[in-house]
This record gives sequence, structure tokens and C-alpha cells, in this order.
Amino acid sequence: MVRISYGAGNGENEASLSHEEPGLLDYQAKPGDFRVRGVTHEDITGDVLLIDPQRQIAHRLIRAASPHNTFLITEQCDQLCLMCSQPPKTHHEDMFAHFLTAAQLAPSAAQIGLSGGEPLLHKEALFGFIDAVAAKRSDLSFHILTNGQHFEISDLPWLRKHRSRLLWGVPIYSNVPAVHDEIVRKPGAFAQLSDNLSLLGLAGAALELRTVVMKQNATGLLRLADFISRHLPFAATWAIMQMERIGYGRMNWSRCFFDSSEDFTELGAAIDLMRARRQSVTLYNFPLCTVPTAFREHAAQSISDWKQKYLKDCEPCSMRSRCAGFFEWYREEDGFMGIHPQ
Ligand code: SF4
Repeated sequence: MVRISYGAGNGENEASLSHEEPGLLDYQAKPGDFRVRGVTHEDITGDVLLIDPQRQIAHRLIRAASPHNTFLITEQCDQLCLMCSQPPKTHHEDMFAHFLTAAQLAPSAAQIGLSGGEPLLHKEALFGFIDAVAAKRSDLSFHILTNGQHFEISDLPWLRKHRSRLLWGVPIYSNVPAVHDEIVRKPGAFAQLSDNLSLLGLAGAALELRTVVMKQNATGLLRLADFISRHLPFAATWAIMQMERIGYGRMNWSRCFFDSSEDFTELGAAIDLMRARRQSVTLYNFPLCTVPTAFREHAAQSISDWKQKYLKDCEPCSMRSRCAGFFEWYREEDGFMGIHPQ
């Protein structure tokens, strides 16, 4: 594990540039010298790289200039969500030792994402990793994506201890148990989720609820908004998200994609209710012109630069610099019908 040094860099994990020619960079580092191709030194300065000499690969675990750094804890999961962008695998490779070193080399006050799969399938190791980071880098915080199935009452003291540095991103797709369970394809998931959301509330944990809009739940969003505002008022925000056309999302696209550019009525009513009850709502992955003007203030530029694109239609658009755009794997032929440059 090395961090590409800004200068001479002689720390244990610092890598300093020793030779440069077009398309090729040589670095010196205590763990071993290495060569990188296809990037400039400026592109990767401050980045944390995990070098795999056998496979001749450098994994960019932390991009110093990006606010979207995420460690993939595991690809295992106990749900099979219809729209999952990263379908689960059975194999698990424990990377916590690497993640601990990488976190220690992260930029000051960084927030690092922890995702899966389901990270809490490896709860003991995950909690131990966070304890270890907190002991060495108290300036770091984590945004953890979890399906909310694996908390226990005995986790309360630990959750309380770390509540200021952890934001839990937890999906809830409907307030109707059968609809939520159908979407995550796990019987009893909603009941378990309800108990564990209460536990997070009891712990004073920071919570971001996440709902992907789909044909299966689009008509129930107003009732879900009412449920959230009544039963989960401690949630810091409710993130309403559009689907990604990748993984199970691609397989199930025609069955699940809800074109909110054609009908924003239920979404608008849900947002209005949350606003009336003074709860925060954010729209992720919505092209800005598909959102009626009254709700655009909620749309975030949520798509990371490396997987974002715009369409030919977007070229003359004056809103482009504020618009999330599209995922790289988006297809116009079965996507939003209402893209209108402004
Ligand atoms: S036309 Fe393109 S850039 Fe403009 S708001 Fe729509 S999606 Fe965004």
C-alpha cells in the first residue's frame, strides 16, 4: 500500500516519483519500487494505491481529489434486490488489513464509504476495523450502506460510541411489508428492518433512508413519506433514487424502471409532505430536466465523475453544470422519455 507523495516523500508508505516519460511513471517506495502507465503524476498525487505485483494491477483505494471514496467490504449479501447494481457473490476476500492502512493514509477529515454486498455480514471484523481507525484517525468518518438486517440489541453501546463518525445509509422501499420484501426478495426483511431502524434511533445514530423508485413502489411513495415522517423522524434525510441500469438493474430494467420524467405526481406529493413536516429529502440520479422546477432544489449531483455521462441532447443545456447527468451504462432507447435541454 502506498500513497503517491506530493514531494520527496520518505514515509513508510510514501511513493516518490523517480522517473517520468509520456504515459509512464516510475516510483520509489519502501514496500517496493513500481511503474504506473496511462495516468499523469498530477492525476494520482495524494492517491492511495494498493499494488498487486502478481497481477500487475494498482487498485486506487483512495482518490485524494474525490469526495466519493468507497471501500467494498464484501460482495456477499443476504438479499437479492431486484434493482441491485452489484449482484452478490458467494466468495469473500477479507481486505480489512488493507483498508486500515489505506484509511490511515486518507486525506484529513475525509468521509469514506463502506459498501457491499452487505458489510454487516462481517460485523465483528467491520466494527473492529472502525474501532482501529477511530483510535488512529479520529478526524475520519464513514458512510456505511447496509440493508439493516444484522443489528442486535447488544450493538447499542458500540453504536452510541461511534454515532458522531458514522452515517448509516439504509434502504426502505415501502411501508407495506409485502412490497418491501418482494423488492429485496427476502421474506420477513421488512419486519427485521423495522426493529433495527428503531434500534438505530435508540442509539442516536445518524440515518439516511434510501428508496429506489421502481414500478413496484412508485404509487406508494406518499404513504412511505407519511410512514417515515411519523415513525422515523430522527432520519437525517430521505434519499429518493433512480435506478442504475447495471447488474440486476439491467436484467430487470423493463420490469422495474419507473420513468419519473413522465409522471412525477406521486413523487412530488411525497416530497411536499416531507417538506411540510420539515424533513429533509434528496433526489439522487435524477437528470435535472426530468424534475419539475418546484422540486429541483432537492436534486443532487450524485453520480461520481468516473461513471457519469451526458447525452448529445445535453450539449446546449444551460443546466448541465448543476445536473447529475446519467450513469455511463444508461441507454436512451429504454430510458427517460422526457429529456429536455433548457
Ligand atoms: S438536458 Fe441533459 S444536462 Fe440538461 S438537465 Fe437534462 S439531462 Fe441534465
